[in-house]
Amino acid sequence: MALQEVVLAEPRGFCAGVDRAIEIVERALARFGAPVYVRHEIVHNRHVVEDLRQRGAVFVEELDAVPPGAVLIFSAHGVSRAVQTEAQRRGLRIFDATCPLVTKVHVEVAKLRREGYEFFLIGHAGHPEVEGTMGQVDGGIHLIETPQDAERVQPAQTERLAVVTQTTLSVDDTAAIVAVLRRRFPNLREPKQQDICYATQNRQDAVKLLAREVDVVIVVGSPSSSNTNRLRELAERLGVCTHMVEDADGLRDAWFDGACRVGVTAGASAPEALVQGVVQRLKALGATAVRRLEGPVETMRFPLPKGLKAAPTAPA
Ligand code: SF4
Repeated sequence: MALQEVVLAEPRGFCAGVDRAIEIVERALARFGAPVYVRHEIVHNRHVVEDLRQRGAVFVEELDAVPPGAVLIFSAHGVSRAVQTEAQRRGLRIFDATCPLVTKVHVEVAKLRREGYEFFLIGHAGHPEVEGTMGQVDGGIHLIETPQDAERVQPAQTERLAVVTQTTLSVDDTAAIVAVLRRRFPNLREPKQQDICYATQNRQDAVKLLAREVDVVIVVGSPSSSNTNRLRELAERLGVCTHMVEDADGLRDAWFDGACRVGVTAGASAPEALVQGVVQRLKALGATAVRRLEGPVETMRFPLPKGLKAAPTAPA
């Protein structure tokens, strides 16, 4: 069987939080000139980071590396209170590119903690979003990564318990963990609307449709991207041969031996140009048609921070 068709998941690629975060760096560079410092990768995509680095962004993990008075941008994943306080103490000019949907979780955690709640945070240890969310409070927050963790966790009390999650998790895995917590702690307070964001949900829904139609799934994105990894795992679980690539150079011809249809999706931090590069490569391998699956149209937009809203002007 020869390769015939490329099927594109809809939606895929950039979400509103990533669009905003990249625009904040671009506008800061235009307004203040290079260098502009960014704490952590602005979004988890190697191509995006490299592009901004070449334009004058300097990515740092520690604030010690930022000179006094410099412009500092917090990445889309958010930061702890301690990092915010330290950046202010150093007199840095701060712009916060934390996705507003992550900030919403931070606000909820801080508010409920003041009311005496203890938390379960479902997420992945070491991910910057988890570090940022855990760092909104001085304690009383338990990281839960698996249903086994949910079975074992022992909070200090059982009357005031709440659950929050990382925004980019597997919807299905998270539901399984919440079910365990709910069974063990009937008073558990859950968010009115789940913390997993609209973009993560929509991209996972689209992969479920895509997997039914194709022989191979290609997920475009970087290995450090949580939501991208969840797309790969989901397609694999649905029984489709799946590969994650950063760009077209990562494709291997042998993956498509015997395949008729190839599905392509992209994580929320992967630029569409990389997807189009993959499509071009698949065409070169013999695909003659490209079809988009029907999916929800995303219209979400988030406002820019004060001080960067006006059109950028060239630095003096
Ligand atoms: Fe925000 Fe979701 Fe995009 Fe993360 S994936 S930046 S939480 S919209």
